[in-house]
Amino acid sequence: QAEQEIQVVFPPEQTLALIKPDTVEEHKDEILKAIQDAGFSILHMMAVCLSQADIEKLYRKLQDKPFFNQLVDFMCSGPCMALILSKFRAVHEWRAMMGPTDPCQARETAAESLRVHFGKDILHNAVHGSSSSERANEEIHLVFGDVCREENQASLLHEASATA
Ligand code: UDP
Repeated sequence: QAEQEIQVVFPPEQTLALIKPDTVEEHKDEILKAIQDAGFSILHMMAVCLSQADIEKLYRKLQDKPFFNQLVDFMCSGPCMALILSKFRAVHEWRAMMGPTDPCQARETAAESLRVHFGKDILHNAVHGSSSSERANEEIHLVFGDVCREENQASLLHEASATA
């Protein structure tokens, strides 16, 4: 009798990824390809100009840091590409792919990463990723809240009209 194969299915996790304003135009396609090659599913993707209030919420833990105003100005300086990524351990996997915060320091080691490859300095470091699963849920809601709500409403309307 053939041995029964046991399949373990790991539940996927979601995280928020942003391609930062100064990197979108030049390197968006390469970064999207790297994301797909690494096995992430892209659940949603949109170009978005984040408001100052959204950026301040996104980085609220850093509001006492000396670079906070510079960070807010930079993130408001143009559109970001926002993505909801899904994969097993997506938060960890995406941060590993991004690499350390400071690309210049990271270049001193041999480790390859998106920030080493595309980042210019510690502020202009190409990409953002949520730091935990809870933060990912909050950040996805912050950036995609209205879009997801509209989609949910559209699908509810669709269901309602289908059952009417
Ligand atoms: N940042 C900066 N100077 C610093 C540390 C951070 O300009 O000394 C910027 C940088 O763009 C970074 C963002 O602030 O990505 C958020 O910082 P955090 O410590 O959360 O790092 P991350 O999670 O992005 O690696």
